[in-house]
Amino acid sequence: MRLAAGDVDAAVVEFERARRLRPTAAGPLHWLGCAAAHRGDLAAAERHLTAALACAVPHRRTLIQRAYVHARAGAPEAALSDLRAASRIAPLDDEARWVMAALSGRPAREVALRLRKAALQGLMSERGADPARECAGRARAGALVDAARGLDPEPGGFVPLHAVVLVRGGRRAAAVELLHEAARRDPTDHRVTHTLALALLNSPGGQRGPEWERCIAAWASVLHDAGFWERARATASRRYGVAVEASLVPALRAGLREALERRMPDDAGTRVAPGPLLQREADAAKLLAAVGGFPSAQGGGVPLFCGPLRIAELGRSAEFGAFAAAQEARALHTGAAHTAAQQAHALRANGFHPVEDTPAALPPGATAAVTGHPSIDPAAGAPPMYTSLTYAFSELGFAQLLLGLGKPGDALAALAELRCPSCRARGGPGAAAVCEPDCARFDELNPGYAGLPDRHRRLSLDARGLALEARLSMGRDELTADRPDFTAAAAYWRRALVHSRELDRYRETQTAIVDMALGAARAAHYEGRLTRAVATLEATRSVIGANERGRLEGQLARVLADRGISVANEEDGPLDQPAADLRRSVAFNPHLLRTQVSLGIVLRRLAAARWGSGSLSGARDTLREAIDQLTAALEHFPDDPDLEDQREAAVADLDHVMWQPDESER
Ligand SMILES: [Zn+2]
Repeated sequence: MRLAAGDVDAAVVEFERARRLRPTAAGPLHWLGCAAAHRGDLAAAERHLTAALACAVPHRRTLIQRAYVHARAGAPEAALSDLRAASRIAPLDDEARWVMAALSGRPAREVALRLRKAALQGLMSERGADPARECAGRARAGALVDAARGLDPEPGGFVPLHAVVLVRGGRRAAAVELLHEAARRDPTDHRVTHTLALALLNSPGGQRGPEWERCIAAWASVLHDAGFWERARATASRRYGVAVEASLVPALRAGLREALERRMPDDAGTRVAPGPLLQREADAAKLLAAVGGFPSAQGGGVPLFCGPLRIAELGRSAEFGAFAAAQEARALHTGAAHTAAQQAHALRANGFHPVEDTPAALPPGATAAVTGHPSIDPAAGAPPMYTSLTYAFSELGFAQLLLGLGKPGDALAALAELRCPSCRARGGPGAAAVCEPDCARFDELNPGYAGLPDRHRRLSLDARGLALEARLSMGRDELTADRPDFTAAAAYWRRALVHSRELDRYRETQTAIVDMALGAARAAHYEGRLTRAVATLEATRSVIGANERGRLEGQLARVLADRGISVANEEDGPLDQPAADLRRSVAFNPHLLRTQVSLGIVLRRLAAARWGSGSLSGARDTLREAIDQLTAALEHFPDDPDLEDQREAAVADLDHVMWQPDESER
């Protein structure tokens, strides 16, 4: 017991005493040999053990102990012959077997197998022992598994178990390495990936950036691996004795993801903070899972579910580029309707509310344009933005994610710098925001574009496309804000239009902006916020070219007329503003009879007010304007009785006013 506890000196005193008492017994000699071996005195150990073997009834483990002493003393032949002799007496234990396999030059794989078996056997036999012995047993098992790792890269099933043995034996780094190697060999084994993810997440502080990236890559992979969740369900069912429904998985997944996001440090020396990095990685994995995963082997194989960090880590960027391009081509081919459905699905998954889910308080057109989704039209040949694997598996993924979350400002900030640190250092400010075509890290950072002939140009164009969408969204957000800033909205749109020219999407973008503004204006009009509607349309008109202005001006004519009429109808309200609104309305659209009649009435009332306040010349001018306007209106609406009446009344008014003495004569 003293020997086991490490108190060798005290143990030796006891053994010596026992030998003096029973000089012919093997036991005391055996233990004296063990104690000497413990101290490293191999010659003494061999002497004691040989003497013990000469006794009438030798201890059953003396041969094996002497074999170990021979092995340590560099006498493999002697060790082997002892082990062979021992194996003839009784079957060897796992520990002796691996020593024998190693000494007799058995293949490395066999030795490794025996080492691992001995490790597990040792752990089992030390279970429930006192803490010091259990701890020593764990360390020993860890050492054996670690030694096996050096001999034989383990192919399969027991990697997670052996990793746990390593971690428990205080060899976390070795465990992580073992798991990494196994994950590289078979990235689709979610048990290995999950153990790796756990080992990395729980590694004590001081992890560097690349380790966090690997940790995030592994977790994102697990989150969207159906096999992992199936196993989690089965395990939970067994443990709690209840069926765990598949319908619970989305909630469990969201919970796990949130828990992970909380565990991420704010700054870990990664290029992007771990929190957003995990979000991008998990979202990309989700998109990949939605198309059935990435074939793990050429021409098929078990599908792999993961994000771009893992693709890069596995060195599969080039293949992935081709895969993503093929997926995109297929999505476009399947037709706009199907793609739109997919996109709507993705939007919903991203927390967007599709048109049909919004309350029908607004006119349908307004709703569609105000909640307006990205204007990229699948039928027009561009990929559906929120489901694009190419975007998600690139540096654009962050901006894509933020746009999806309704944070266009943050998305724009994320687009400002898409280069790796060395390209940034080379390019300096003002250079293109994407990595140079010859950048060695391009494919690693942008697997979605890897291997494409014009990948650099395409990435820049797609970045611009996202910037365009972000500017459009920011403009829309400004219009629908509680306190809209119309100048700011117009500025966002001007920038969007600049991008659109570069992308050859100018007309399309103009149409999108006009649709959005008309929708917002219609919604404001419907709510009776006429001034807001007018400002929306005017701000938009200031950035839109002549070809799209017609639609805005038609709407502006109606809103101005409504505002003019409604203000004019207020009791005792001043009439200059309504008159100005109605004049502009008529100028934009002379074909609105109601506006023409109303302008005539308002001008006559304005003339009366001017006369009343003592300005005869003002009254005359206004009445002349009314007659001219009504005369012009009658050309659009010949013989209209209301217009005729107003014109006659205006002429009579003017006659009456002309007969009045001038204010200068009064
Ligand atoms: Zn670069």
